[in-house]
Amino acid sequence: MKLLFVASECTPFVKTGGLADVIGAVPKALAASGVDVRVLIPAYPTLAAWLDGECVLTFEDLFGGPARVIAVKAEGLDMLLLDAPHLYDREGNIYLGSDGQDWPDNDLRFAALSYAGAQIGLGRLEGWVPDVINAHDWQAGLVPAYLAQASTKTPPVVMTIHNIAFQGVFDPTRLAALGLNADQFTPRGVEYYGKISFLKAALALSDKITTVSPTYAAELLTPDFGMGLDGLLRARQADLHGILNGIDLDVWDPQTDKALPANFSVRSLKGKALCRSELEARFGLSEGDGPVFCVISRMTSQKGLDMLLECLPALVVQGGKLALLGSGDAHLERAFIEASNRFSGSVGTIIGYDEELSHLMQAGSDAILIPSRFEPCGLTQLYGLRYGTLPVVARTGGLADTVIDANEAAILTGCATGFQFAPVNATMLGHAITRACGLYAQPKIWTAMMKRAMRHPVGWDLSASAYLDVYNAAQER
Ligand code: ADP
Repeated sequence: MKLLFVASECTPFVKTGGLADVIGAVPKALAASGVDVRVLIPAYPTLAAWLDGECVLTFEDLFGGPARVIAVKAEGLDMLLLDAPHLYDREGNIYLGSDGQDWPDNDLRFAALSYAGAQIGLGRLEGWVPDVINAHDWQAGLVPAYLAQASTKTPPVVMTIHNIAFQGVFDPTRLAALGLNADQFTPRGVEYYGKISFLKAALALSDKITTVSPTYAAELLTPDFGMGLDGLLRARQADLHGILNGIDLDVWDPQTDKALPANFSVRSLKGKALCRSELEARFGLSEGDGPVFCVISRMTSQKGLDMLLECLPALVVQGGKLALLGSGDAHLERAFIEASNRFSGSVGTIIGYDEELSHLMQAGSDAILIPSRFEPCGLTQLYGLRYGTLPVVARTGGLADTVIDANEAAILTGCATGFQFAPVNATMLGHAITRACGLYAQPKIWTAMMKRAMRHPVGWDLSASAYLDVYNAAQER
């Protein structure tokens, strides 16, 4: 099977969140089953070093300037880089200008990505026509809309929703500029309550839809989580599949991780203590007996960190410590910096994005806090499991599907791997933190949970074959 991925980010080339990790990992897992996967992403400045590959496709004018697609094999992936300097050659965040607002031409930037994907689907790459296209999130949402304009046979499209909160909604006056036909501006096409929605277009027009956990797939059918698209998803329920994300075990393995001062494994946990000491030093935390909690996260209301702020005094009183790495909403950044001053030695905050530090935090912490209001899958709890850092999670989306709560029954039967709380509010988060502190004081139970968590299967094997089933089903449409 030949499969084209179309996405806006891919680890290790460019990453702002979990989407990139998934795009970088799934193709490797699928390749093991004999699938020939190529990954189309924009050539942002961070990809400049790879632009000496072979030019396999050119566009004289791709939404305002010349563009080309460069094929390159790198980091175990078959990459197709869409080099369109007028759209992507900008410093800073790939989605936002220096004012923190979306780039004003984001509609054209990601329409171009979708258009290039559709052209590859139509056979414009010599010698390689995909059997299936897997488009990821709203940035690739117009792939099926452009394919629908063709009069020839087109490959089926599978749309994967990584986060329905981001929908790519634009003014209807942009229709012609985006190369869409007037007759596509209907509820069955790209129209969404009088506007153009890239994600809505994909959900209406693609052959199959997947999302990144079974629980999120169910949640998306409700008004609370569907964010305006639940009706459409209910209508397409038969085509919607929840497939749990995995993690790349070549990158996230405490036994081989090069970012750590010491490695460790289920059989020998000794190195974890050294990682903890280094983590405490990096975050200005005092050494001591209580559990070290960490947070590695975008700081937005989705992630529920405002609830954690409310719980900090109790966490500290119980002897707990917190190391937080993240960036996002200015008021949350400020509040956590203030908390670090107020609880000096017990709370440490680093504002920013630091991939290497995130590895040390997963390795050196005792528990990772993820109080998300919604979480399509979440990856940091999976890294936590792998590194014996017990997840404390809101019972929602993929968090609900991956962590086994340490309730009395689970402790008695020996199957707990972390802590879940619901309903998702500060009181219940505080209760979960208290439970974690309580069990941390019982080293026998805690260590058994750590070892169980580290053995929990978090790789891609099962999910890769579930994706394969969906691709096969899409071809039978
Ligand atoms: P989301 O995609 O919603 O941001 P996920 O949990 O699915 O959340 O994925 C987040 C990814 O980004 C993880 O790989 C996590 O380690 C990483 N990450 C988030 N914030 C930071 C940060 N400040 N520094 C380094 N890595 C981060």
